[in-house]
Amino acid sequence: MLGELFFTVAAFILGLLVGSFLNVVIHRIPRGENIAFPASHCPHCDTPLKWYHNIPLLSWLFLKGKCAFCDAPISARYPIVELLSGILFALLYIKLGAVWYLPFVWASFAALLALTMIDFEYMAVPDSVNFAALLFALVRPDFIDAAIDAAMAAGGLYLVGLLSSKIAGREAMGGADVIVAGTMGALLGFPNFFVAIFLSAVLAMIPALLFREKGVPFVPFLTMATLIVFLYDTHAEAFLERLVHG
Ligand SMILES: [Zn+2]
Repeated sequence: MLGELFFTVAAFILGLLVGSFLNVVIHRIPRGENIAFPASHCPHCDTPLKWYHNIPLLSWLFLKGKCAFCDAPISARYPIVELLSGILFALLYIKLGAVWYLPFVWASFAALLALTMIDFEYMAVPDSVNFAALLFALVRPDFIDAAIDAAMAAGGLYLVGLLSSKIAGREAMGGADVIVAGTMGALLGFPNFFVAIFLSAVLAMIPALLFREKGVPFVPFLTMATLIVFLYDTHAEAFLERLVHG
C-alpha cells in the first residue's frame, strides 16, 4: 500500500521533469531549433537559466511567473504542461503498474501532450513529434497486433478523409491526423479506437461551434479521448456493447 503510494508519487515527479523537457520541445520544435542545445534560457532576454530556475512547478511559483533577470512574464503554459505531465505519468502508472513497457506508454502520451500544446498554439502538428508518439506506442508485448491496429486505424482514417474530401471538394483531413490515428490504434486497439474517435468528436463539438471562424485544433480532443479510453478501456468496451446491442 505504502509502496504503491511511493511509486505513484515517484511517477508524478518523473512526469513533472519530463513536462519540463516537453516545454522545451513545445517551444523549440515549431521554431526549428535544436532541442538539446543551447541550455534553457529566458525567451525574452536570452540569459541562461540557473538550475534552480528550472525546477518544475516550484520555480515558476517562486518567481511569480516572471524571469529572474529581466522580469518578463513567463507563460503559464510552463507550469500547466509540467502539472499535466505529472498527472499523466501517475495515472498511467496506476493503470498499468510496473510493466516493462510503461516508459514507452509514458513517452507516447508525453509526445501526444506536446502535440496538443503545439496544435493549440500554432494550429500545426510537427511530424517529428507525431512519429515519435506512434513509434513509442508500438513498443509493447503484442507489438505485431499493435502494428496491425495502427495500420488499420491510420488507413481507415485516411480513406474516410479521402472520401469526405471528395464529397466536400476540399481537404477535409491532414496527413498529421492520420498519424495520430495510427498512434491511437496502437494504444487502444479495436474496437476501443472507435470509441475514442466518437468521444473526441463529442468533446470537440461545443468548441467547434464556439470558435467556428478561427477553426479548432483537433489533436487536443483526440489526445484527451485517447487518454480517457485508455484509462477506462473495459468500460469503453461495455459502452460499445450497449450501443450496438441496446
Ligand atoms: Zn529574461
